[in-house]
Amino acid sequence: MKVIHKIFIIISLLVVTSNTVSASVYDEKKPGDDKKKVKSKDDTSSVNTNIAKLSEDCNEDVDIDTSLIVFPSNDLYASWDTTMAHPYNFNEAFKVDSVEIDLVNPDAPGFKMPFKGNTTSEFGWRRRRPHYGTDIDLVTGDTVVSAFDGMVRIAKVCYGYGNCIIVRHNNGLETVYGHLSQMNVEVGQVVKAGEIIGLGGNTGRSTGDHLHWELRYLGQAIDAMDVVDFKSGNLKDNCFVLRKTDVVAKYDLRALKGRHRRDVGLTKAELAYAKKTGSKLHKIKNGDTLGYLAKRYHTTVGALCKKNKLKPTSTLRLGQLIKI
Ligand SMILES: [Zn+2]
Repeated sequence: MKVIHKIFIIISLLVVTSNTVSASVYDEKKPGDDKKKVKSKDDTSSVNTNIAKLSEDCNEDVDIDTSLIVFPSNDLYASWDTTMAHPYNFNEAFKVDSVEIDLVNPDAPGFKMPFKGNTTSEFGWRRRRPHYGTDIDLVTGDTVVSAFDGMVRIAKVCYGYGNCIIVRHNNGLETVYGHLSQMNVEVGQVVKAGEIIGLGGNTGRSTGDHLHWELRYLGQAIDAMDVVDFKSGNLKDNCFVLRKTDVVAKYDLRALKGRHRRDVGLTKAELAYAKKTGSKLHKIKNGDTLGYLAKRYHTTVGALCKKNKLKPTSTLRLGQLIKI
């Protein structure tokens, strides 16, 4: 009887989480969202597998380890969706002004840099698209590790991301690892900080090998550079305070779109060019080189020269606008 009672609890919990998923309200489309998400039904295949596995165990009268169904931060998320990359609605779910997110757990190894490499693109607007992650340069086949302890929620091809792994952590964060060449973990798998979860690559909307890494809380992407010192590979602090005001001021990229354009100080003609061609204009800052721009925007020096009628040896002026 004890075992049957446990099965009932487990199945009930799984049904509750599955139902919550289908009731989720989707945020506006973001890069990385699964194109099929509207049409797709809840993929409960993994859940059913768990039920089957647990039932099998019960038949053998083995005591069930209920920790199998304790999803990290489920109180906060109230859903465990293994189909959609971003099924959450931050503005609806985030009811407080700020939250303190523990990054270092005394029982856990804390944070590990997913891959130590140069950053090639930062959080912000890029080529008419919001870029919710930080790109880290690597070579296909380099090992990528989980940033914190957690459980794998997504391990599949996602629109834009290519082979994509999303890990839910106990501190409420989710981390996204995109463009992988290989995924070494399965949905539901418990991973430790520093554990290899896949190999870097160039899949999805990507030009050149790199890791696209995102840090999210209730679906809202956070600029990872506010949390991690990418040069040293260490956390900037043991905790991170996420404020609603910061979301409005710097993380909600779509809402900020108009303001960013104005900040760049483009003329009407330049804006029209950007709109017409879909190209971005980069304003030359101290230290910029064509080589750096090519790497940052995933293009080549040759292509930049052609577009801007420059030679590879041309001197760049501060404030000069370069068509990307
Ligand atoms: Zn990226």
